[in-house]
Amino acid sequence: TVYNFGSINRDLIHEVPHMPAPGETLAAKRYSVGLGGKGANQSVACARAGAKTVHIGAVGQQDTWSLAQLEGFGVDVSQIRRVEAETGHAVIYVDPTGENSIVIQHGANAEQSLEAVEAVLAKANSGDILLLQNETPFTEETAKLGRNRDLFVIYSAAPFEPDAVSAMLPYIDLLVMNRGECEELERRNKMPLADIPVPHVLVTLGADGAIWRDQSDGSVTHVAARKVDAVDTTGAGDCFTGVLAAALSEGKNRKQALEMASAAAAIQVTRPGAAPAMPTRDEIDAALQD
Ligand code: ADP
Repeated sequence: TVYNFGSINRDLIHEVPHMPAPGETLAAKRYSVGLGGKGANQSVACARAGAKTVHIGAVGQQDTWSLAQLEGFGVDVSQIRRVEAETGHAVIYVDPTGENSIVIQHGANAEQSLEAVEAVLAKANSGDILLLQNETPFTEETAKLGRNRDLFVIYSAAPFEPDAVSAMLPYIDLLVMNRGECEELERRNKMPLADIPVPHVLVTLGADGAIWRDQSDGSVTHVAARKVDAVDTTGAGDCFTGVLAAALSEGKNRKQALEMASAAAAIQVTRPGAAPAMPTRDEIDAALQD
C-alpha cells in the first residue's frame, strides 16, 4: 500500500491572449477545471500504475467533485477529511506561447490534522510506502511517524523550500528532486549531492531521464528518458514519483522501478493536463514492451 499525505487542488485553467498587465481586465479564450495539486497528481499516477493508494488530505465540506475525480482515477479517498475551508485551488493563466502564471490558494490543504494522519498510519504495515510533498503542514511530523512505523518514506521536495528539505532529511529514505531543485539545494547547503545525509537521492533530469544514487555506497542507477514529442510537461515529475512509488510497493527493484516511471512520464508529457494525463498500468506495460 502507498499512503500519500498531500494536497488536493482544483486547477482553474484560463487560456488568455496575453498575461494580464497590472490594472488590466482580460477575457479568457478558454476555461477548464481539472484536478491538481502535487499530492493529488502523485496519488493518481500511483493508483493508475496499479498500486493500492490511500490519499490522506482535506477538501471543503461541499466538494464532492474532487473526491469523485480522485475515486474515478482509482484512489482510495476514505481518509480524506471534509473541513470548513474551501478545497484548495490554483488560478492558472496560460498564454499562447505556453508560458503560465499561477496563484495558489491552499484552502483546505492547510487544515490538516496530525491526529488524523497518525490514526491512518497506525494501520500501515512495515514495508508500506509513505509519500510526502511540500504542499501540506506537518510533513516533518508525518515523516517521523512513517520512520517509526518502518515505512519506506519518499519525499518529493517540491515546491522547493531549502529549510523544509533540511528538516526532513533525518526521517526519509528517498529524497526526490528535479535538476533545478537539486542545484539549489547543493548551492544553499554548500554541499555536493554525494554529501546529502539521506539514504537515497533521486534526481529527475527532464528529457535526460533520471538518476538514483545510493548514498551509502555511491552507486548510481541511470534511466534514460524515452524520445517523445512532449506537448505539456506539467506534472511530469509527479507522474515519475507516483509511478516509482507504485513500482517499489510491488517489490520491483530500483532499475525496474525507474524504467516503469520513465515509461509512464514519457506518456504523460504527450498529453495535456496533469492528473488526467497520468497513464494506466496497461499503457505503461505496453510502452515497456517497445
Ligand atoms: P519536473 O516536472 O518535476 O520538473 P522533470 O522535468 O525532471 O521533472 O521530469 C520528470 C520526468 O519526466 C523525467 O525524469 C523524464 O522521465 C520525464 N520527462 C520530462 N520531460 C520529458 C520529455 N521531454 N520527454 C520524455 N520524458 C520526459
